[in-house]
Amino acid sequence: MSKFDKFLKETVARVNHQCDYCGNPIRVGDVYYSEKLKDLFLHSLHEKRFCSKCYKEHGDNLLKVKKGKRKPTGTPPLERWIGDKSTWIGPTKCDEQREARERDWENIWKNLVSAKGYRETYLFLMPAIDLFREALSCYQNGAYMAAVSMCRASTETLVYLLASRQIEYRKGQSFVREVKVDHSLTESKFGEMLAKAKAKGYVNIELEKQINKIRKNGNFALHYGQRYDKELEESTRHGVPEGWIGMEKTRDVLRDTSELLTKMIGKTFIIAQDILTNSTR
Ligand SMILES: [Zn+2]
Repeated sequence: MSKFDKFLKETVARVNHQCDYCGNPIRVGDVYYSEKLKDLFLHSLHEKRFCSKCYKEHGDNLLKVKKGKRKPTGTPPLERWIGDKSTWIGPTKCDEQREARERDWENIWKNLVSAKGYRETYLFLMPAIDLFREALSCYQNGAYMAAVSMCRASTETLVYLLASRQIEYRKGQSFVREVKVDHSLTESKFGEMLAKAKAKGYVNIELEKQINKIRKNGNFALHYGQRYDKELEESTRHGVPEGWIGMEKTRDVLRDTSELLTKMIGKTFIIAQDILTNSTR
């Protein structure tokens, strides 16, 4: 064995690097493989670094790659590793998990539209439901960070609608058709809207927790740079953070959002029935 023998050492990136084989970025927190000399008293001046995907594909053959000899090939693959699974980022036509996602969104949607009072309260909650539909569409197409962002948009819109609208009594109607809008909330911060929705009896502590959980995931996507750093900072003791929201987590967030919408449909339905049928005005 020559003292210049090398091996590849599994390492967690503390700063950003670039893979010396495929040219893809290795980001802070990513697991990558760096070339080390077996003789620990020697240091390689031009240590090569390879991403986990290339290591998986080529293993120790990467040691034969000459630094700077291999130019990154065309467009880097739009992939991101979450744990030991890869997630495609960006437009794609063929995708092995598409069928599973189709089943997921169809089930989630079927549950929502079969909720008691869905039709009767549809006009009241439509903007939030439309945003949720958009979230399902993102999921269907593998756009996970987009899907959780839309779940947050749907949830915040839902809270605004509940806070700002009053169902109007119209004789003989069993569907919500008219509402009075409180325009004082159009410039309000979310906390104010939530307080109002709570005061009106729509949201309790348990639901508030659920709302905040959905918003937190959306925030991770919408403020990715900051949130990723924060997660990394908090997770040094618990290993590498996920770093990107994948299919499974997105499905959970969709289910949470659907459940929240279903509960709010139920509450709105009870309130609407009371106003529309029992009003003595
Ligand atoms: Zn690579």
